[in-house]
Amino acid sequence: MNGEPDLYVGGQWRHASDGGTRESINPADGSVAAVVDEATDADAREAVSAARAAFDDGAWRATTAAERSILLDRIADILQRDKESLSVLETRDTGKTLVESRIDIDDVTSVFRYYAKLVGVEADRVIDVGDPAVISRVVREPIGVCVLIAPWNYPLLQMSWKIAPALGAGCTMVAKPSEVTPLSTIAFVHLLEEAGVPGGVVNLVQGSGAALGAALTDNPDVDFISFTGGLATGRTISKVAAEHVTKVAVELGGKNPHIVFADIGTGDAWDASVDQVLTGVFLHSGQVCSAGTRLIVEESIADDFVAELVTRAEKIRMGDGMDAASETGPLVSEQHRAKVEGHVASAISEGAKLVTGGSRPSDATLEKGSFYLPTIFDRCDRSMGIVREETFGPILTVERFTEEAEAISLGNDTEYGLAAGVRTSDPARGERVVRALRHGTVWLNDFGYYTAAAEWGGFGKSGNGRELGPTGLAEYQELKHIWHNTAPKPAGWFKGE
Ligand code: NAP
Repeated sequence: MNGEPDLYVGGQWRHASDGGTRESINPADGSVAAVVDEATDADAREAVSAARAAFDDGAWRATTAAERSILLDRIADILQRDKESLSVLETRDTGKTLVESRIDIDDVTSVFRYYAKLVGVEADRVIDVGDPAVISRVVREPIGVCVLIAPWNYPLLQMSWKIAPALGAGCTMVAKPSEVTPLSTIAFVHLLEEAGVPGGVVNLVQGSGAALGAALTDNPDVDFISFTGGLATGRTISKVAAEHVTKVAVELGGKNPHIVFADIGTGDAWDASVDQVLTGVFLHSGQVCSAGTRLIVEESIADDFVAELVTRAEKIRMGDGMDAASETGPLVSEQHRAKVEGHVASAISEGAKLVTGGSRPSDATLEKGSFYLPTIFDRCDRSMGIVREETFGPILTVERFTEEAEAISLGNDTEYGLAAGVRTSDPARGERVVRALRHGTVWLNDFGYYTAAAEWGGFGKSGNGRELGPTGLAEYQELKHIWHNTAPKPAGWFKGE
């Protein structure tokens, strides 16, 4: 970063082989946050080869679960020690507020702590095959060389959901952060080195996904690809990996419904619902895969509910994430803001009723950043692109319903299936609706929370893998059945007569 080498291959820090660099832009003001090395295709191939060699060498995968657990805990300690500097990097690179970045680093830490406790806990499965001389057991082994590709919205958090279980399982890996937000991952890999991760076990390349994609995914030396990002990229990677029969887990986008029944109550209960619908969609300017972008609200309260949302949305304080007064930051880049603006223009042309936002803020102090106002469209329906496609920006659409079955049907009427929220004071209805929704995470009277101990992933086109929880570790393991006969006898099938 800024002249220091940023690629980490086989335990060595180095510059790109062609000397290439890229500016990482602070979206709050358009300034250059840092200049980082930009890997070439050859660098990426070397990184995969280094991970392959470190795996095949056998020393790392022969470490005990207890040794890897101690390492994961040490990494968690170092993360907490450097929480502030990592948070500042994350804010400068993504634009999110410093408060959010600090929460991210705490979450990253909790993922390492969780897997430190989990590794080695899953016992081998011993099977009684009916012959006391035979010991039949199923053991877990590391899957091998992993390519870990992360998006820009939660750069270090998304990467930690991959690196922590991969290390815990005894895999080796190549990490590739988004070219838009590489800074926290570069700093983190320095910390992994300090914590004692052996050379070659974690390798790091950054650069354009389009340029490095083939080297990382169209590569027979790779055993597993864990990808988080958009649907189109997920499709591309899945197709390429299929040629090598490489296992792939893709964690993709969402178009997440937040269903509000008229029985939510009044007073504090009403306020909690308004607040969580607002936070669920406008946190991090809507650049959250599980953002509740589709409000599906019962007709009898819809006018009042939307009116209050509009009032609250117009009070959201936007600004540089480093400013403690800012409640939300900019979009990650000018390019991304242009995409959001395109979606808003289409929504208007399709007849969605714009009730607030729909433009850049007029505040002159925000002019240099890629800010966009919290935006709400009322009177939306499924025929509109703004209801179907993921915008990944601060846009809330409102659909209305009158019957419970209609709410469920609307909630499931999406090609995605990442997350959903339901708000009702009737526990029986709540249970009915959450079970009927086809989404990977469903919150009942809450929104947006998760824990490292519970699986995260999508139904439908939101993905085919699971991160976090025991399954998040199992993704990085192969199962091997060992049949050990302690008193072998002839099979006696062929008589030799
Ligand atoms: P993206 O454009 O698909 O990129 C994701 C990552 O893939 C980046 O590191 C990107 O590199 C890389 N990439 C691009 N083309 C590639 C290729 N051909 N081969 C290999 N890698 C390639 O997604 P994004 O815009 O960064 O992220 C936003 C998306 O992520 C949204 O759809 C969001 O919903 C989703 N997301 C999902 C989850 C989840 O848990 N399901 C969590 C967070 C985000 P470059 O950036 O360098 O091009």
